Amino acid sequence: MADTVMTVTGPISADDLGYTLPHEHLFLDLMRDNWSGDNYLNDPELAYQELMLYKEAGGVSLVDQTSGGLTSNDQYMLPVKHPIAVRELSERTGLNIILGCGWYRETYYEPHLWRMKTDEIAEEIEREVTHGIDGTDVRAGLIGEIGAHFTWISPIEERVLRAAGRAQKRTGVTLTTHATRGPLGLDQLDILEEEGVDLHRVVIGHPQSHADFEYHAEIARRGAWISFDNMGVVEEAVPYEQEKLLKQVKDIVDAGLIGQLLFSHDVCYRHMYKAYGGHGYDYVPTRLLPRLQEIGMTEDQLLQIMVDNPRRALTGTAHA
Ligand SMILES: [Zn+2]
Repeated sequence: MADTVMTVTGPISADDLGYTLPHEHLFLDLMRDNWSGDNYLNDPELAYQELMLYKEAGGVSLVDQTSGGLTSNDQYMLPVKHPIAVRELSERTGLNIILGCGWYRETYYEPHLWRMKTDEIAEEIEREVTHGIDGTDVRAGLIGEIGAHFTWISPIEERVLRAAGRAQKRTGVTLTTHATRGPLGLDQLDILEEEGVDLHRVVIGHPQSHADFEYHAEIARRGAWISFDNMGVVEEAVPYEQEKLLKQVKDIVDAGLIGQLLFSHDVCYRHMYKAYGGHGYDYVPTRLLPRLQEIGMTEDQLLQIMVDNPRRALTGTAHA
């Protein structure tokens, strides 16, 4: 039986995923970090235009990792509930969109979480996968992104991560994390391992933010996925940042760990939209390859990372 993946419009065969961006955002509100307005994506028409550029570049599927707390103002930001807005975008663009669930990181938690038992949080996440998100019938296709705000995992973040792990075991969907300040992904793996989660089903998010090959190799050795989800930085950043990121990619490929590597853009600010001068959702399919060729990578390797790897990460198919 072919593996299936739950999209916002229903289940599809994993073989139909095709070219997949594994970590993006379509609508989100990051203004609990700062009140800039750059970090507020709420324009369905603009999102449609940006996504169509990805589709024209050969994109077929996209994982929207906008988890709980990132949409808590959706009554102000969108004309309909967030999951419905994502489904409408999928129907309009024809792209397969897989939506995440759970909770982002402590700054974005709603107060009721502090009063819930870990198992109650787990049941809530499980329902988002089995029934639908936020009272809608739009089901999550994975759990995440589940994050930590600081250089440590706070007590409430640990409980949410444990709950996510329990929900992962009950539902069988992939679990993705957010870890940007130091080698926190390994602590996340420790917690998930204690909960009995198969680490092949875990994607560690943003490991490129801690530029240490040993960190990345250890994530892979433990069976989890290394998600380099800001590849658009190669286009935008200063040369030092570009070289640092490409060297990290090269080290992973040279170590034979390409089978556990993922690439995405993590579009989460307006300045990342092409309409505002950014790299958009189509930098990886349209313009990354020449930079990868500079470090000795091939088109086949890029396709492995963008087609085979996301399919395996989303379905749990054994590592190559
Ligand atoms: Zn993200």
